[in-house]
Amino acid sequence: MFALMHSTRLESLHLSVDPCTGLKAVIAIHDSRLGPALGGCRYLAYPDDSSAVTDAARLAQGMSYKAALAGLPQGGGTAVIIRPAHVESRAALFEAFGRCVEQLDGRYITAIDSGTSVADMDCIAQQTRYVTSTSAAGDPAPHAAMGVFAGIRSTAMARLGSDNLEGLRVAIQGLGNVGYALAEQLHAAGAELLVSDIDAGKVQLAMEQLGAHPIANDSLLSTPCDILAPCGLGAVLNSLSVAQLRCSAVAGSANNQLTNLQVADQLERRGILYAPDYVINSGGLIYVSLKHRNTELPVITAHLSKISQRLTEIFAHAQAEKRSPARVADELAERVLYR
Ligand code: NAD
Repeated sequence: MFALMHSTRLESLHLSVDPCTGLKAVIAIHDSRLGPALGGCRYLAYPDDSSAVTDAARLAQGMSYKAALAGLPQGGGTAVIIRPAHVESRAALFEAFGRCVEQLDGRYITAIDSGTSVADMDCIAQQTRYVTSTSAAGDPAPHAAMGVFAGIRSTAMARLGSDNLEGLRVAIQGLGNVGYALAEQLHAAGAELLVSDIDAGKVQLAMEQLGAHPIANDSLLSTPCDILAPCGLGAVLNSLSVAQLRCSAVAGSANNQLTNLQVADQLERRGILYAPDYVINSGGLIYVSLKHRNTELPVITAHLSKISQRLTEIFAHAQAEKRSPARVADELAERVLYR
């Protein structure tokens, strides 16, 4: 565990259990030099406890980098609640988690992420004020999707020479809160959608509402397309999957898409432009961070609109230096974090 903390430069790791509700939670605080740590709370099943800790640590690191590059006065943190096989009361479990957050006295602010909902955040809010994306504050997913959509335009411009998405084939893996909202915007812009989700109902809905073409889950990554948008869980890009990609660019919302930085180099060698995940998906964090500070919506929208410009600059740096945009983004974020 300490080796993991060392390799991710994690500031602290907090483990909590509550036998009454079945809560088993990990809160990872990566860095709080820029401000209190802010980041999502996942509620997922994990193969073992150490996978949950690793997920929390890596996500928290990504949150620090995301906040640093987005210019937010916020550190990076993440919570993972290990989803039990059976839960008596989901509300009680999230309230118990809220007490854990409260004990950290504002050093970590939680938010919605995979497997959690606005209703869960409302339960947490019964116990602590260090929570965002409640029903009062609003769901960040549409804002994350808006940022990814703008980022896809920048990616198309940089790789294909035009940001007109009409007729562009975009393969979306995962039609959750962000993926589906992104699909709607892409559809409105005239893109052709190729979609997969382990939930067949979501695929059916996208077929009916957006004219999307269904793709089997195990074929999505190797499906010929212009842009691949991973919007499910992380670690989808590894040396084996990248060898199979048949796209010009990868630009999606999922956090931690790369299993390691060598995979980014492999994408670069293959001529596939990679939009660094924590840059293109920063709309969610920007929204929750600014909303938590009671910022007015027009100011938040103005901040969100900077995502595409930031990506364009990173692509230009990467092209000039013949390096992966992932390496350029990491370097820029570390310059802000560790100056
Ligand atoms: P979600 O849980 O609502 O959606 C994820 C979807 O992916 C689900 O529909 C799930 O069934 C599907 N999925 C999972 N594994 C899959 C696979 N192997 N193949 C196909 N489909 C698969 O989560 P979300 O809030 O939409 O977030 C999606 C990703 O974007 C996550 O990585 C999250 O961390 C990241 N993200 C979310 C936000 C936000 O505001 N919600 C912001 C930034 C980044």
